[in-house]
Formats: sequence, C-alpha cells, structure tokens
Amino acid sequence: MLTDLDKEYLWHPYSSTTRPGPVWQVVGAEGVHIELADGRKLIDGMSSWWCMIHGYNHPVLNQAAKDQIDQFSHVMFGGLTHEPAITLGQKLVEITPEGLEKVFFSDSGSVSVEVALKMALQYWQAKGEIDKTRFVSLRRGYHGDTWGAMSVCDPDRGMHHLFKGMLAEQLFVDSPSCKFADQWNESHIEELRALLSAQSKEIAALILEPVVQNAGGMHFYSPEYLKRARELCDQYDVLLIADEIATGFGRTGKMFGCNWAGISPDIICVGKALTGGYLSLAATLCTERVSDEICGADPGLFMHGPTYMGNPLACAIASASLDLLSQMEWQDKICDIEPLLRVGLAPAGELPAVKEVRVLGAIGVIELNQPVNQSELQPKFVEQGVWVRPFGSVVYLMPPYIIEPEQLQQLCAACLSVVSEL
Ligand SMILES: *Cc1c(COP(=O)(O)O)cnc(C)c1O
Repeated sequence: MLTDLDKEYLWHPYSSTTRPGPVWQVVGAEGVHIELADGRKLIDGMSSWWCMIHGYNHPVLNQAAKDQIDQFSHVMFGGLTHEPAITLGQKLVEITPEGLEKVFFSDSGSVSVEVALKMALQYWQAKGEIDKTRFVSLRRGYHGDTWGAMSVCDPDRGMHHLFKGMLAEQLFVDSPSCKFADQWNESHIEELRALLSAQSKEIAALILEPVVQNAGGMHFYSPEYLKRARELCDQYDVLLIADEIATGFGRTGKMFGCNWAGISPDIICVGKALTGGYLSLAATLCTERVSDEICGADPGLFMHGPTYMGNPLACAIASASLDLLSQMEWQDKICDIEPLLRVGLAPAGELPAVKEVRVLGAIGVIELNQPVNQSELQPKFVEQGVWVRPFGSVVYLMPPYIIEPEQLQQLCAACLSVVSEL
C-alpha cells in the first residue's frame, strides 16, 4: 500500500513518525470534492486549510496555469520583472484597504509575516528609534511556524510553547474579550492601552489577525477592538500589522477583516486563498510612509529576497483567482452561506459536549468543552463522506465559496452527528 510507504518516508503537519495518525490517499479533486484512492468522494469543509475558495480543478485557474507554464514558469525577481507579478501587485493594491501601496511577494504566509516584522523593525531603525524592537501580539494569536512568526504566536496555549525562552520575547495582551456582536465598552481595550502607554518606546508594532483569531481557536471579536487598536497605535507611535492570511479574500463576509472596522493597517499580510489554493504564494503590503522611510535612510534597502519571489506561475493563477472572485459576486455568495451555516450548526448548541456555536461569513464553528482527539474524530467524518479536520477544542467549517446548499447541509449534518457522539 502506498500509504505504508507514506508512513515509512514522510512527516505530516504537526505529527509523529512513530505514532502516525491516519492519512487518506487522494487521487483527484473536483469542485468541492476530494476523491480518495478507494473511490469515495468527500465534500471538503476545510477548503484545504482555507485556500481553495473556488473549488478544485477550476477550469479558469487551470487555464491560467497552463497559459503561464507555456510561456515561462519562473525567473528570478532580482533585476527581472514580468506581467504576472505587476498585474497581481496592482490588483492587490486596489483591493486591500486604502493606503497600502507597495507589494512584497514571498512564498508562504509565515514568510510574509517575517517580512512584515522586518519591515517594522527597519522602519524604526531608519527613523533612528533603535529601541523600538519589540512586538505586541494578542493571546490566542497565530501567525505562522517560522522563527519570528512563532515569537508572536500565543506563547502558552499555541503550538509553539515548546520553544518559549528560545524565541524573541514579545509582549502579549489578552485575546479580545468583546465578542463579534457584543456591546463595546472601553474596558475591553484597557490592557492594550496601558501597555502601549507604558512601553511604546520599545514597541515597533502591534500584530493581530483582524476580527477572527483563526488557528488559535476560531475566536471572533468585535471590529470596535480593531478600530480602537488603530487609534492607539497612532496615538503611541506604534505600527499596526494586520495578518489577513486567513481572513482575507472574503472569508469573513468582507474582502478583508479590516474592512469591518473601516481601518487601514500600516502593513498587511495576505496568503492562503490568494492563489485560490493552487500554489503557495503570499504578499506583504505596506504604506508609502513605511517604504519611503526604510528606503530613505542608510542602507536604504529592504533586506529580504526569497528565491522564488514573485513566482510568475503563482502570480498568474492568483490574478485569475482574484478575477474570479470579483466576477462571482462573492459577497452575495458568502451572504448565502452564512445563514445556512447558522441554521445547520445551531442544533449543536443543545449538545452536552458543546460550549458555543458561532458563525461569521463562511466560517462556522462548534466550540467544545474539551479538546478533541483528532485521530479518533477524523475517520468518523470520512465515514460521513466529508472532509472536516477539527483541532484544539473546535470543530469548524470553512467551505469553498462555490459550495451548493445541499452540500453545505451535508457538512453541517456530519458535524452534528459526530459531535453528538462526544
Ligand atoms: C496559515 C496562517 C499563517 C501561516 O501561513 P503559511 O502559509 O502556513 O506559512 C500565518 N498567519 C495566519 C493568520 C494564518 O492563518
């Protein structure tokens, strides 16, 4: 069996080689379906880690890939440029919140976060503010698995507490306590205000995932928090980095999480759904204030340059994916998905194992009282004909935007069925 060779040779995400969890071999994928080697077709409720928004094997994205591959699939970005990168850069500047004008491409979300952190540090260095070297982050935050990104992830509950003490020591405030639709009150921002007020001289930037803290537990919080965080960053001269890698491109019901609050960050990271799930590509955008400052002082260069920077194949597909997004009236689509998730998942609220059910845009979450046993639950979802991969204490859905109502109902029903047995 091929999967025996998988066990012999391969390491999977967050996994053990001596006690490997179950894996299923995929032989095809089309629309919202993942096809397994044994012929079963699963409805994908994960969009392959939140990327595959238009579904698998999309004719338009396939064509964009083929067209580009027949021209050239890669050239170095140092000293060379090409239409796919230029077009995509222009589109990103157009759709991201106002003021973000310069685009730096990289190969994954984590790297785009490294780039963002570096931009913030170089900005303050260029201004001669050499003590501004630390970052403020929110507990429950997740920003990636590379070294700098790990330092701004939740230091205790996240997956990176093993490295505590080895990473740069950043500053943390509690995860926003004001839920998405809760009444705002100023006490919700007091900890952040007090920290910035006391230590802004050593703080380069605040980094956060706007509106939804994703891998840290699918926590939705009030846009008012974002609005006030933006004001406080301005007041205390701290840059704001929005990590929109998970929330970007319509997932929460707005194009970007920041749009819920009508704010613009100084630096934004996008990735995941950027290529519609076809290839790994990310981008960090910043304001001209940031780029001009970095480039205005010695050495006047931004010191980063991934080998596969601006990969033409990835950029061409990303451009096509953004075009699809603008043609599909994504906002209507998410508006259709949201109530179906609400209705479909609501009965879970009555189950003993469930703490809370919540839905925002095309994200549906069942939060449990206890952490899940992933290796036990996963086969149950497969038996139900769906691909749902719970983590921590959440069973959640982030379906492709093209999903049909009946397929969505099937996903919800599978979640209810599996959770009701807990
Ligand atoms: C997934 C994710 C990352 C990391 O992106 P990779 O492409 O896996 O490196 C960073 N931040 C957020 C919010 C994410 O969801």
